[in-house]
Amino acid sequence: MNKKRCTAIVLAAGRGSRMGSGVAKQYLLLQGRPLIWYALHAVEESSVIDDCILVTGAEDISYVKEEIVARYGFGKVTAVVAGGKERYDSVYHALRALADGKTEQGDVCAANRDGYIFIQDGARPFLTEEILKRCYEAVRRDHACVAGMPVKDTIKVVDESGFAKETPDRNFMWQVQTPQVFDAPLILSAYEKLMQEKERLLREGVSVTDDAMVVETFTDCRVRLVEGDYRNIKVTTPEDMAVAEAFLKDAGKGN
Ligand code: C5P
Repeated sequence: MNKKRCTAIVLAAGRGSRMGSGVAKQYLLLQGRPLIWYALHAVEESSVIDDCILVTGAEDISYVKEEIVARYGFGKVTAVVAGGKERYDSVYHALRALADGKTEQGDVCAANRDGYIFIQDGARPFLTEEILKRCYEAVRRDHACVAGMPVKDTIKVVDESGFAKETPDRNFMWQVQTPQVFDAPLILSAYEKLMQEKERLLREGVSVTDDAMVVETFTDCRVRLVEGDYRNIKVTTPEDMAVAEAFLKDAGKGN
């Protein structure tokens, strides 16, 4: 059976301001390796993923090419793309590169116009092969899926003054992770529509925080939730670094 090409977009163009450190969080060391190493390593070792586009700050491109991609031998990375102001801008830059077969900077990369696109936060170090495989099976069936887990806490919707407004039924609440995985033409067309409507959404104060939301808003395709992992955290604040260290030690990968 012919396997469609599976391309990962690994996002590392955020400023990581909530980390409160001088160094961008994707380069902070976790057990001696930059945070971004872990997601790239999972992609590199995966039997599902064929190639990868890494998105980083425009000013970090040569550093990342030399000190991350070449230094650690991440052979699946076919291009390092400059990200944008918001996460969705960064994703769009990578999607354009995959549609055009080249980056804005003029580097050639492997195009992916009819396979599957796995969008992954570089700040999630605990991506596993099991999650990638579950997402691959789901995207083949349902065209759009995201990793996530049922919430454990009760969730409150609050009003502007911080008072509880609603308590949605916890049985239907999931916390959403990455990867978020889509048919290539579906995610590209959803993002093209987002870019056309961007000014209006900004005026209306809508914040676009994940890729599924773009597909939900601009296409008829339903997005399937796939079991991720409670360990598949996003490292955002200093406490998350401590949790990530503990997970790594526990997994015996810390030496
Ligand atoms: O800040 P947030 O939690 O949305 O970041 C999620 C991921 O998106 C991080 O890996 C971050 O580096 C990336 N990102 C990006 N470009 C931006 C903002 C965030 O690539 N402009």
